[in-house]
Amino acid sequence: MKTKVLVLGAGFGGLELSSILSEELGNDLDLTLIDKNDSFFFGFSKFDVMFGRKTADAVRIQYRNIVKPGVTFKQEAVTAIDPAAKRVTTDKAVYEADVLVIALGADYDISHTPGLAEGGNEFYSFAGVEKLREVLPTFKKGRVLVGVTSTPFKCPPAPSEAALLTHDYLLERGIRSECEISLVMPFGIPIPPSPETSKALLRAFSERGISFVPDRLVRSLDASRRVAVLDDGSEMPYDLFLGIPKHRVPQVVADSGLTEDGWIPVDTKTLKTKFENVYAVGDVNSVGTPKAGVFAEGAARTVAAQIIAQARSTDQPAGYRGVGACYIEFGAQRVGKVEVEFLAGPPTGTYTEASEELVKDKVLFGSTRRTKWFGL
Ligand SMILES: Cc1cc2nc3c(=O)[nH]c(=O)nc-3n(C[C@H](O)[C@H](O)[C@H](O)COP(=O)(O)OP(=O)(O)OC[C@H]3O[C@@H](n4cnc5c(N)ncnc54)[C@H](O)[C@@H]3O)c2cc1C
Repeated sequence: MKTKVLVLGAGFGGLELSSILSEELGNDLDLTLIDKNDSFFFGFSKFDVMFGRKTADAVRIQYRNIVKPGVTFKQEAVTAIDPAAKRVTTDKAVYEADVLVIALGADYDISHTPGLAEGGNEFYSFAGVEKLREVLPTFKKGRVLVGVTSTPFKCPPAPSEAALLTHDYLLERGIRSECEISLVMPFGIPIPPSPETSKALLRAFSERGISFVPDRLVRSLDASRRVAVLDDGSEMPYDLFLGIPKHRVPQVVADSGLTEDGWIPVDTKTLKTKFENVYAVGDVNSVGTPKAGVFAEGAARTVAAQIIAQARSTDQPAGYRGVGACYIEFGAQRVGKVEVEFLAGPPTGTYTEASEELVKDKVLFGSTRRTKWFGL
């Protein structure tokens, strides 16, 4: 009998899961992968679009390339999820399955931060970076403020990367000396689980004259005065605000009754929700890892192993450990790497010094996923 699986969301988690199940179960699989978009893009490619290095079209990978045994891709918007019945409604159809995997990621709530829409920019959504691509070339001098507005947020190194890449961008345009760059972060150090990575980032900020404001969030922007108000009531003037907006689950997930405190709780070893044969992987859950593609991938591998074991009636695999390695853009054509394990005691990280060699590793990271997920 075929294993009938429904995967909601074709991002890092959904694509990894579908690829592994197809490779392992082939035609014994009946998997439907649903996403409202026609294409995928890597989170880090937003920097390429924002700084005008690549066009939006160049970083999009079309889902129509997915041709895998046992997998059918549907471009549809999920409008309702009934986890008890494992029934999902989209704008075009109703689906039922033996196993349901929710991998719908995190959405943004721009309106949560007063003044952000009118007086600032955000570089976390595709629309945000496409706008910034037009805005950045018009910026000639003044104060750039990179600020986090809420926790949790995707890819904790991304705000630091944005500050460093903005430095390079302004330098290339010959206007760096006319500008100041500040970074407001809710942590005491840039990457709390890895003091070594944080030290390297703080050194890079200091070498480039980027000021790091720890333990603070940006609560609101006063667009008329061009001032950011922080969570302790202090104010920071800015001329260009590059924000990280509040994150939330997609509305359809909030409506499903699966969330607690805003995210889907799961068993940390299995990624199972409280409903039988319903899993949640990636940014949409609250498993205790950062919201990053590499962790969504790791969670998907753990779920895939369980579905395969169930299909073959073999022993259940070892549990999820929350291990991931993130590449960090340091600018000046160098990339560093931090590897962290989150779920086997206090998180501990290992840092690999930024180098040109790691730039190639990061390119390889992208190309191996393109091949595995899209056959390109
Ligand atoms: C600037 C930036 C840089 C980043 N850099 C990195 C990095 O270097 N390394 C890293 O690991 N991570 C990075 N990330 C984070 C990474 O992109 C996310 O954490 C990752 O994509 C999460 O994977 P996911 O599968 O949980 O969700 P996603 O990849 O977000 O996928 C969710 C999918 O669900 C779909 N969806 C949502 N709602 C619906 C609906 N109602 N109906 C149908 N489909 C729906 C969406 O279209 C989307 O395709 C970065 C993020 C940003 C913003």
